Amino acid sequence: MKPANQLLSAMGTTVFTVMSALATQHRAINLGQGFPDTDGPDDVIQAAADALRDGRNQYPPLTGVPELREAVARANQRFYGIAADPATEVVVTSGATEAITASLMALLNPGDEVVLIEPLYDTYLPVVRMLGAVPRLVRLMPPKWELPRAELAAAFGPKTKAILLNTPMNPCGKVFTSAELAFVADLLVKHDAYAVCDEVYEHLTYDGWRHIPLMTLPGLRDRCLRIGSAGKTFSLTGWKIGYVTSPAALSAIVAKAHQNLTFTTPPNLQRAVAVGLAKDDAYFAGLASALAAKRDRLSAGLAGIGFTVLPAMGSYFVTADFGRLGFAGDDVAFCRHITEQAGVTAIPVSAFYEGRAPGHYARFAFCKQDALLDEAVGRLAQHFQSQTGTARLTAAG
Ligand code: PMP
Ligand code: GLN
Repeated sequence: MKPANQLLSAMGTTVFTVMSALATQHRAINLGQGFPDTDGPDDVIQAAADALRDGRNQYPPLTGVPELREAVARANQRFYGIAADPATEVVVTSGATEAITASLMALLNPGDEVVLIEPLYDTYLPVVRMLGAVPRLVRLMPPKWELPRAELAAAFGPKTKAILLNTPMNPCGKVFTSAELAFVADLLVKHDAYAVCDEVYEHLTYDGWRHIPLMTLPGLRDRCLRIGSAGKTFSLTGWKIGYVTSPAALSAIVAKAHQNLTFTTPPNLQRAVAVGLAKDDAYFAGLASALAAKRDRLSAGLAGIGFTVLPAMGSYFVTADFGRLGFAGDDVAFCRHITEQAGVTAIPVSAFYEGRAPGHYARFAFCKQDALLDEAVGRLAQHFQSQTGTARLTAAG
């Protein structure tokens, strides 16, 4: 038989699925894959339930139901002062995952170069490669996750078509500053390039950090495709509703990509997300402050055990250095070990890099009920304390 697609045949299953399956197998507390363990707002869920019953269950319009496109446009204005035409500048997709793929499809021709910043979300590289484009990787490294400006500038060249920028950033919780964004903006203008902006954690920022869409910088309104996700904004990750805001000329091409990927997205969930985006400021502030408290709770617990927990200004995640715990193995072995032996699952940070990567950091999701976070910390504490003074921990045991 002829071989199937090489790139997909060679690819492993996503680390999030692998670690969630391992967590289930070992009845571990899953602080790996990023999903909340409580449902999002009741009124949004009720709106979805009602919308299932009112006779609008056939194909919705290709670019999304008008209610949601209007709600996305209004949210752009309300939160960031971005004026967007709901009829021509917003496309609704089946999750941000599809939005990222559709945006890259809209921009890239084979041979185009795309600047990507590690650590990176796991769909970016395969999609860029499947489109025949060429990734140019730039690395942020723990513990500071600083933007290496000279390397970033060097990654741009005459073939650069786009950058894919994720802020707030998974897995490291970095929120790009206005100075960093201005540096990126200059490069984009200088090289006449676009930006695919993965902003799924836009409302999850802490300690006074504010998310700034790259699109709001001078000269960038027409170069950016700004992506949001209802999954993160309403703690409903299974719903898979995403939205792209971009200039009309690009939106029309994103819509063509969407037409060939999924064509449309469930209308009932779209209409409920429109209700969500209209919620008052207290909802958005409350979501962020509740998550900040969870971040602090988990961070303090992990620090008490001996992890060096890095600051996270946004997202669902903290990254923690386990180097002081005496474990003799890399981050992949460590995450497997704590799942199997301590009953707590995390994600190895090296999974977000290609090739050699920092090998002693684990990513923990804190978007969980306090009792579960406490139980996870208790299990890890017990495990590592019981190991103190005994043989060095090994990958095997
Ligand atoms: N980008 C990043 C950085 C993410 O963490 C996620 C979370 N799954 C996504 C995109 C995908 O979002 P969605 O679930 O809406 O497809
Ligand atoms: N975004 C989630 C995370 O980083 C996972 C999404 C997925 O499993 N594909 O954990």
